[in-house]
Amino acid sequence: MPTLLVKNAEVLVTMDGHRREISGGGLFVRNGFIEQVGLTSELPQTADEILDLRGHLVLPGLVNTHHHFYQTLTRAVPAAQNANLFNWLKTLYPIWARMTPEDIYLSTQTALAELALSGCTTASDHLYLFPNGSRLDDEIEAARVMGVRLHASRGSMSLGESKGGLPPDSVVDTEEHILADSVRLIERYHDAKPGSMVQIVLAPCSPFSVTGELMKQSAALARQYGVHLHTHLAETQDEEEFCLQMFGHRPVAYMQSVDWIGKDVWFAHSVHIQPAEIDVYAHHGCGVAHCPSSNMRLASGIAPLREYLQKGVKVGLGVDGSASNDGSHMLAEARQAMLLARLRAGVEGASLSGQAAPPIMTAREVLEVATRGGAAVLGRSDIGSLEAGKCADFIAFNLGRLEFSGGLHDPVAALLFCNPVNVDYSVIGGRTVVRRGELLTLNVAEHVMKHNRAARRLLEGG
Ligand SMILES: [Zn+2]
Repeated sequence: MPTLLVKNAEVLVTMDGHRREISGGGLFVRNGFIEQVGLTSELPQTADEILDLRGHLVLPGLVNTHHHFYQTLTRAVPAAQNANLFNWLKTLYPIWARMTPEDIYLSTQTALAELALSGCTTASDHLYLFPNGSRLDDEIEAARVMGVRLHASRGSMSLGESKGGLPPDSVVDTEEHILADSVRLIERYHDAKPGSMVQIVLAPCSPFSVTGELMKQSAALARQYGVHLHTHLAETQDEEEFCLQMFGHRPVAYMQSVDWIGKDVWFAHSVHIQPAEIDVYAHHGCGVAHCPSSNMRLASGIAPLREYLQKGVKVGLGVDGSASNDGSHMLAEARQAMLLARLRAGVEGASLSGQAAPPIMTAREVLEVATRGGAAVLGRSDIGSLEAGKCADFIAFNLGRLEFSGGLHDPVAALLFCNPVNVDYSVIGGRTVVRRGELLTLNVAEHVMKHNRAARRLLEGG
């Protein structure tokens, strides 16, 4: 069983129960799992591989809880640059309808490359269009090669325009096929064991693109197999109006009516939410994927991150699909979350005359959301912190970089306050994926040419 010794970290951020930060810390790893965490002098002195991280900040790998990898092919599309969610979707659906299995594979590589280089070691993806023979298998295979842990959501759309939904009929599927394919994927790929590299999630796309019946059947199927459920919820005002008109409920009440409330459910966005609905999430253990860049990009609104945390709702971060961010930089997303929560607190503090403003969001709080928070949202107890028994998923930043210069009074906070950078090292399950800033699992220059060719073809309709 191979061993790895990490030693001499300038600071090792554990995110353990005591949130220990160890100067001169290290890790001893065996077979992909952490066996010991502590001062370098207390760890074994030899191992099959030794990584001396003198001058580096080491922390648990970041967890991304919401993405649409395929959208890396349609970033900054001129016609969708300045649209709100519903118009953005209507512009992009016909372009996405041209995707092929190779496009799914290439776009997964692009998204995971950006994610891995920016600190993400576990990523959730939500794929809900399967045109021209595309399958979730294409994404799972690409993630395996890239070496990043994947929670692959089998998304779906069944409510086309002719039945009152938003997407054109050409991109929706029959509910019978969606459920059969979900069973096939769970049985083939889902691994619930500690250290799992692939888990399957069932993820009807949104209230305005699937029927209530598919929501109920997906929930029943997920619970039969013990897999998680994920969807977009309470993202925009338009969606709220759609739910009130179509189902006679606000989005959260609609979820309650289709059995989508529980600790096995997490929702992307949850921006337009009332205090009583936050209580429902907290009481039943629902998670939230907070996607600040996407919410700003589409002018959707500001999610109440502080209130979620105060009430004990599980919250992770999501970069969201690359057509509404349009990057997959995980550390930058953490910074956006910190800044946006501060802006919201300031605006609200100004409007609540006579009342104290909510406490300001700190760098460490946001790093906790990006690590432990994301792990909890995905239902993982084996990732999110550096502790004995957990997966050896960690990242390291060279503090000698220009971006940190002058900020070393508090290197942990500097990671967010200074301009977010790419990682120098990323190790996932004991396997080195990034070394000295170089991604080892993809020839990036060659890949960019292929990916740009595919993106051009999609836009041109060839
Ligand atoms: Zn999304």
